[in-house]
Amino acid sequence: MSVTSETQWKQELCEIGRRIWLREYVAANDGNFSLRISENEVLATPTGMSKGFLTPDMICKVDMEANPLEGAYRPSSEILIHLEIYRQRPDVKAVVHAHPPTATGFAAAGLSLQECVLPEVIVNLGGVPLCPYALPGSPELPESLKDYLHQYDAFLLANHGAVTIGPDLFAAYYKMETIEHFAKILLTARLLGGAQGLPTERVQELYGLRERFGLKHPAAPPVCVPRSPTCMGEDCPVCGVGEPSPAAAEGHTRELVERITREVLQSLRSR
Ligand SMILES: [Zn+2]
Repeated sequence: MSVTSETQWKQELCEIGRRIWLREYVAANDGNFSLRISENEVLATPTGMSKGFLTPDMICKVDMEANPLEGAYRPSSEILIHLEIYRQRPDVKAVVHAHPPTATGFAAAGLSLQECVLPEVIVNLGGVPLCPYALPGSPELPESLKDYLHQYDAFLLANHGAVTIGPDLFAAYYKMETIEHFAKILLTARLLGGAQGLPTERVQELYGLRERFGLKHPAAPPVCVPRSPTCMGEDCPVCGVGEPSPAAAEGHTRELVERITREVLQSLRSR
């Protein structure tokens, strides 16, 4: 690795920080991102600093065990999640973690972004699962991603934020933009009465495109798994496979009770 390219990578990390801060994907000193530059070397953002004003000298270098190799600053304890991702997914060279407000709102409400609504999101991300809550910076945090890590490139962390990964920093960062943009669109659609999910055949078509674009990691199964307030599980007209949401289940029960009451009243009247 030449010195020039390492300086360029550090500058790239600073540039991503500036964009993340400007777009308000983080507040105060939140967020962290990293770049794997060799088998055992990772460049990472420093802890306790605003990511909007980083300079290349603030970037830390650690090995795959999180031991510091270079730099006066220390990385966030959340570096553990980055290192686990690099270990599990050798194709991944960059990890971005932030708290974009709309996407994090979904994560705080216990909702994933696994809805088959926008073609670009299906093709580019496959899906955005919701990983269970774990204490930020704890060893449980990387553990919480494990079930999804080999299928997806973008994740929501329950009650926490989002993580995106890619073969380079910009690829990982752009996925963060896509997540937040999608979350805003989905929220708007819900406020307007609910998003219309694409039917399974259409989703399959889009997964076909994913394959054609040579997207490396295995795509998520070509089914819609919405956890939307309207999904009724096996009876769901959109996916027919999702988990029934509590709200939909409640609506279902109410409908059932109303129907039975109607039928009983009718039979009483006809006597
Ligand atoms: Zn965080």
